[in-house]
Amino acid sequence: MTEQPVNEQWVLKRRPVHDAGPDDLELVARPVPPLQDGQLLVRNIYLSLDPTQRIWMSDREQYLPPVELGEVMRGRVMGVVEASRAERFRPGDLVTVGLGGWQRYIVCAAANAQRVPQLPGVPLTAYMSVLGSTGLTAYFGMLDIGKAKAGDTVVVSAAAGAVGSIAGQLAKLQGARVIGIAGGPRKCDWIVGELGFDAAIDYKNEAVGPALDRLCPQGIDLNFENVGGPVMDAVMSRMNNHGRVVVCGLISTYNDASAAPGPSDFARVLMRRLSIQGFIVIDYLPRAAEALAVLAPLVQEGRLKWKTHVVDGLENAPDALQRLFTGDHDGKLLVRIAPEP
Ligand code: NDP
Repeated sequence: MTEQPVNEQWVLKRRPVHDAGPDDLELVARPVPPLQDGQLLVRNIYLSLDPTQRIWMSDREQYLPPVELGEVMRGRVMGVVEASRAERFRPGDLVTVGLGGWQRYIVCAAANAQRVPQLPGVPLTAYMSVLGSTGLTAYFGMLDIGKAKAGDTVVVSAAAGAVGSIAGQLAKLQGARVIGIAGGPRKCDWIVGELGFDAAIDYKNEAVGPALDRLCPQGIDLNFENVGGPVMDAVMSRMNNHGRVVVCGLISTYNDASAAPGPSDFARVLMRRLSIQGFIVIDYLPRAAEALAVLAPLVQEGRLKWKTHVVDGLENAPDALQRLFTGDHDGKLLVRIAPEP
């Protein structure tokens, strides 16, 4: 390539109040800087939209530094190497970059790029979902931390979402009884009819507590928590002795100005001798190969199902992010920045 392309980047303009939207970000055009030794120029194809990006936009206490005002919005990307000054990569290679950005191109250190394995029969979008950090989150959360096993009654919230749908299937594969909580009949039908969950609770149309009483008469052994707030409270107050709570996410609170207190019945932790563990998938990335050795064959054999919801156009990323909070998406939410090669 003889000429450096012009990049388009979404930068954070102001910290959102409640819902994040296009006015909180600004699309700017900037020249791509020349490559230094050890760097790659990647033309991005897919951008992952994740609930945690709403947290990064805020300056609340969090697990990574917040995205600063004027900084390119952070996000995982998949793209094709256009130019390389690193031995390991050549133009045409497909890579993912974990902390890439909402942008058309990225210049990154080769050490921050992972080659896409391109397994036979597996679409590229899988590496941004079930075989990407979504799958790792479900795997380590449900199996390593939650230790789901046969005989357990497991509840998964945001169960039709990217992480929840995989986490629930992994618990089923362990022989557990799995109840999913999701919004709307269509999502509930999908997790029971297609994914094999034992039952679903449509939290938008029925009270979660009584439904749990009906579906989990022996109580709950493992809660894979994705949502927080009243949904979490309903589950927590039905946990069995020595129950385990995996705190994967608290999406119902991410638009709030400050972290909500909870769970409301904290004494339950004492009375039922509960173990509660939060986790962030970043800590498990060094063990990614271990998870992928399990997940990839399940995907190839069709024993693990997943969906992706692709929104076209980098310009639509800020609007699309909001879908994670309304539930107006079907599976792992991605933005297609450019066509697949
Ligand atoms: P999803 O694909 O699950 O999308 C988010 C879903 O959350 C929506 O579809 C919606 O589902 C549900 N939701 C949103 N707001 C509410 C609400 N107020 N009450 C109940 N449900 C709500 O996203 P992900 O799979 O990417 O993320 C799921 C959770 O996992 C999030 O909390 C996220 O932060 C967390 N996570 C944690 C990671 C970690 O390392 N700990 C890594 C990745 C994700 P519905 O239509 O059913 O309402």
